[in-house]
Amino acid sequence: MFDLDKIVRPNIKAVTAYSSARDEFSGEAKIWLDANENSMGSATEKNYNRYPDPLQLDIKQRLKEIKGVGVNNTFLGNGSDEAIDLLIRAFCEPGQDNMIILPPTYGMYTVSAAINNVEVKEVPLMDAFQLNTEAIINSIDTKTKLIFVCSPNNPTGNCIESDSITTLLNEFSGLVIIDEAYIDFEESKSWLKSLDAYPNLVIMQTFSKAWGLAGIRLGMAFASEEIIGILNRIKPPYNINQITQDVALDALSKANVAVKNEMVFVLNVEKNILTTQLSELSMVQEIYPSDANFLLVKMDNAKSIYDQLVVNQIVVRDRSKVLLCDNCLRITIGTEEENKALINALKNIN
Ligand SMILES: *Cc1c(COP(=O)(O)O)cnc(C)c1O
Repeated sequence: MFDLDKIVRPNIKAVTAYSSARDEFSGEAKIWLDANENSMGSATEKNYNRYPDPLQLDIKQRLKEIKGVGVNNTFLGNGSDEAIDLLIRAFCEPGQDNMIILPPTYGMYTVSAAINNVEVKEVPLMDAFQLNTEAIINSIDTKTKLIFVCSPNNPTGNCIESDSITTLLNEFSGLVIIDEAYIDFEESKSWLKSLDAYPNLVIMQTFSKAWGLAGIRLGMAFASEEIIGILNRIKPPYNINQITQDVALDALSKANVAVKNEMVFVLNVEKNILTTQLSELSMVQEIYPSDANFLLVKMDNAKSIYDQLVVNQIVVRDRSKVLLCDNCLRITIGTEEENKALINALKNIN
């Protein structure tokens, strides 16, 4: 039922990728005079005068060892944001096709769709922030190309039940994109192991959360070789800069993977402590279950609590105007000290 060829935009099918100097000659040489780089070096102490690897193969090789996903099934982007944008651009004809999102969810899907002049259909989550699978299926039309499922979901924190995702994968002839930005905090619920089973599955992950590398802008997308091939063909040739590639490779060393895992462990412990302490405050109405590094908390008067926290120099995210998130604050798990300061500040608010 799924036919990739039928859902790619015709102009994208016809695009020939930019052929860089490094594409045209990638063997060994002593003297490189083919890319108009500065042969003398850089204006900085460390040299960055050479263009970076367009396909970031060293990073993808390490990711393969860590995640078990093939090099040709892996795309790296300048943040997940780049993968979101490229997926929309590759598959949705502006002013014609549409995509489905499941609010309340990450804001970037809508922004990227708007930039690309692509219609967004919204099918709100139901009780416990789970999918209304029937309504999603009913809202699919012949012009629907993508469904974005965020799991664990931002801002609600929960994972989406696997049965409903399986239904979408089986019933929808477009792409089901699962955004797993927070999956390191609950790795067992990742869909990576199902990649081979579904030709229409795309999984996005990021270095911005558990890895603590939001500043280097590096996102991942995993999918069939055919889908990844399309993304690679239309991306800017050198989309991941050398500094980011160096830092990512360092992060993926055995020792630093252990550092990441330890941070995830500590943050999950802190999340449990913060949940207990928040639940003892009278202003707190509900703390939603979270598989991520944040808590969505329903409060008596979220806006006023937000304002008073700001006076205490503590900034959380006010989500009280967001669909299904009345009076909710989204609170990122901080360090032990930061979480204590937050609880103290809340105790002094009335
Ligand atoms: C933080 C976040 C991302 C990460 O985006 P980057 O561009 O990789 O920093 C992606 N998706 C969701 C749902 C997020 O909350």
